[in-house]
Amino acid sequence: MTLLEAKGLTRHFGGIRAVDGVDLTLRRGEIHALIGPNGAGKTTLVSILSGRIAPQSGVIRFEGEDITALPAHRRVTRGVAYTFQITSIYPRLSVFDNVALALRDSRDLARDVPLALARTGLEGFADETAGELSYGHQRLLELTMGLALRPKLLILDEPTQGLANEDIAGFKALVRSLVPETTVLLIEHNMEVVMDLADRITVLNFGRSLATGTPAEIRANPEVQAAYLGGD
Ligand code: ATP
Repeated sequence: MTLLEAKGLTRHFGGIRAVDGVDLTLRRGEIHALIGPNGAGKTTLVSILSGRIAPQSGVIRFEGEDITALPAHRRVTRGVAYTFQITSIYPRLSVFDNVALALRDSRDLARDVPLALARTGLEGFADETAGELSYGHQRLLELTMGLALRPKLLILDEPTQGLANEDIAGFKALVRSLVPETTVLLIEHNMEVVMDLADRITVLNFGRSLATGTPAEIRANPEVQAAYLGGD
């Protein structure tokens, strides 16, 4: 039932308590949103989970095993994928070659790349140069690369940022199609997307976890309203 369990994660930068004793449990097959004001520690927290930043204290268990000290690339092979806020594609390479790089040691790229592209609807773009795709398609390519290794956990950092409304609808359908095979942890500022997609939501504020609950529970939580939702 539990895919990932983090306890007491802490990361301070000088005097800034970016992440300050956070507990987080991800259930297998859920879409879990991480929300909170700017600077609340969301990106730092998912960077700790993906292994890009080491915590100063705390423990992360993935499928019951302690992965706190595992480097990022070894977490990827265990099934933790992360897509960045900043675009991470290789703009001069073709769409096919970008996905081929993400597939790492696949022995059958002629089969596996089209399969990966079909999952996100990019199968018609294999020969295009990645940097010449529209912005929305570049974001989809990033997602394709994150999904190429069929991760157990996909961490998405602000995936809808800059997307047009019609692309957001497609994105939501795509994320829904990933579960339950893939568990999704989603940093998202668009509250309509959060309330629509998330099974559960964790709210961070000043590096601490303020609350975890269903969208209805989070909406009704007075502390969350005061800190983030503006009392609506
Ligand atoms: P946003 O929604 O704006 O992306 P966030 O919730 O993702 O914000 P973080 O980016 O994790 O927040 O930042 C948390 C705090 O830690 C902020 O005060 C930020 O300035 C600080 N911080 C993050 N990374 C570093 C760093 N490498 N060095 C110093 N301070 C940092």
